[in-house]
Amino acid sequence: MLVLGIESSCDETGVALYDTSAGLLAHQLHSQIAMHAEYGGVVPELASRDHIRRVLPLTEACLADAGRSLTDIDAIAYTAGPGLSGALLVGASVANAMAFALNKPTVAVHHLEGHLLSPLLADPAPVFPFIALLVSGGHTQLMAVHGVGRYELLGETVDDAAGEAFDKSAKLLGLGYPGGPALSKLADQGDPARFTLPRPMLNSGDLDFSFSGLKTAVLNLVKAEQPLNEQTRADICAAFQEAIVEVLSKKCIKAMKQTGMQRLVIAGGVGANRQLRAGLDEVCRRRNWQVFYPPLHLCTDNGAMIAFAGAQRLQHASSAGSFAVQPRWDLSTLPAA
Ligand code: ATP
Ligand code: MG
Ligand code: FE
Repeated sequence: MLVLGIESSCDETGVALYDTSAGLLAHQLHSQIAMHAEYGGVVPELASRDHIRRVLPLTEACLADAGRSLTDIDAIAYTAGPGLSGALLVGASVANAMAFALNKPTVAVHHLEGHLLSPLLADPAPVFPFIALLVSGGHTQLMAVHGVGRYELLGETVDDAAGEAFDKSAKLLGLGYPGGPALSKLADQGDPARFTLPRPMLNSGDLDFSFSGLKTAVLNLVKAEQPLNEQTRADICAAFQEAIVEVLSKKCIKAMKQTGMQRLVIAGGVGANRQLRAGLDEVCRRRNWQVFYPPLHLCTDNGAMIAFAGAQRLQHASSAGSFAVQPRWDLSTLPAA
């Protein structure tokens, strides 16, 4: 079965072709980062218009890469939410129009289910059940994953997401948007021991997170250390990254122990962070747990994860929704496979 996947929830237009026997055949991505950078964040109306411009050329490029034609497609999966309404409507409209013309079914995919299942595109892939740490720009959640659609929320952030904390701290340090990767790069040159930043909710006894205080601590340091020289900026980045990696790692350990699971899976954009991967590799090596990540280029938003999640839904479960888009959508309300 050949599934076309379309992602347009925020500032990336992603299109991919996933074949249930041959795997990922092609994927194309256009990031709008450069377009939004001058505004310091995503401008929803500009995002929607750019998705309209990109989605069909990217689809054609995918088909060409895979040597397939539109009529080879068996189903079309698209991100139905959560995300920006106008941006979501572009993917939903294009997917449903094409499916109508081709007389093929559509699958409405939950964006976070796409992220959550993306490590299954790696080799080796994890088998169910596992603990998943979902760390993206808008979400930070720990979940017990028992199968496709069987997601038990164990804990989540009470304020900012981890990626959001990276981005906001990077902005305070003048590193541009989205600053996660830039902050991480500068941290390589820094001394994490020069400043001590708080580890919010590290000992809260539950699996929830809080990152807004960390951002405020960065703001206070930035004010106290004026004028900021390059070494001080790097040292703040290193201290920030160390704090966030420690909180995420310790909460993963707690979730693994609490559930007795042996496999840990990381998903979402912050999963691309090298320091986080190194920290979790070490944690899992010492305890004989297995740890899995998505391929690096599939950590942030992409069409491959949507095509893949759509294929899983078609094979194992009912559709996650209908034509309507859901800008707000709780992952734990999805039907089980
Ligand atoms: P959501 O999926 O929750 O709706 P999103 O789609 O914006 O949010 P993703 O695309 O999964 O989020 O990830 C983007 C986030 O990942 C950004 O906050 C970005 O700064 C962060 N990020 C990407 N690479 C790195 C890195 N190497 N280190 C730290 N953060 C990173
Ligand atoms: Mg993005
Ligand atoms: Fe995302």
